[in-house]
Amino acid sequence: MNAALAHVDETNLSHPINWVRKQRANAVIAAMKRRNFDAQYVENREAALQAVLALAPDGAGVFRTDSVTLDQIGLIPALRARGTNKIMYPQEKDGHGNNIHGDYEKNRVLYARIQREVFSADVYMTGANAVTMDGMIVSTDGGGNRVAPLLFGPTKVVIVVGINKIVKDKAAAFDRIRDFAAPVNVKRHFDMHNRPWYGELPCATTGVCSDCDHPRRICNYTGILEGSHPDFADRVKVILIGEEMGM
Ligand code: SF4
Repeated sequence: MNAALAHVDETNLSHPINWVRKQRANAVIAAMKRRNFDAQYVENREAALQAVLALAPDGAGVFRTDSVTLDQIGLIPALRARGTNKIMYPQEKDGHGNNIHGDYEKNRVLYARIQREVFSADVYMTGANAVTMDGMIVSTDGGGNRVAPLLFGPTKVVIVVGINKIVKDKAAAFDRIRDFAAPVNVKRHFDMHNRPWYGELPCATTGVCSDCDHPRRICNYTGILEGSHPDFADRVKVILIGEEMGM
């Protein structure tokens, strides 16, 4: 054996895995720029938080949606600590885990009104279910409130996404959503939130998508961003994090 390699730990694949991920991230960023998305790569969640905060100028109204990735980077506590933005976050909780706007089931009209505020927000912050190697952004939700503002409405859209969301193409994005992200999200809502109907969805029991027709299915609306119109060329900002984030 080459003496220089004698002490190499061949069970540790972090270097080759991270190298491949970085090459893929660079390709995705370049492809997104060709599509008029203002995309950047950051190494970790701490750098992502700083990049996100830099995209929300003082005084800007910031609307954020349900996103584990945004929770993982610590967006809301950082915005609250900075204190220079109006924050709109329908799912925000108090220190005891209760929604500050009250029980979701009992206050649906209020929640719907708050959710519609996103369309006039200065900055909309969200995650994504998948990004393709050729630079598209794909997201699915049940009510359309997360997907719709991606397309039009808020002045600026900031999409924060982990490197685990990179897939080959649109078909693989749909596979990722149905095979993994949606069932995990259903299970998350069922286990962690007070919405028992999630338990009725087939994937909550099997962990597998059966392309159900349940009225509460969370896969009703899919938004695919294939590019930015020149009139809105600076609207969509993407922060791709070199870590596994969200689901
Ligand atoms: S079973 Fe229904 S809710 Fe679950 S992932 Fe499939 S379509 Fe979506």
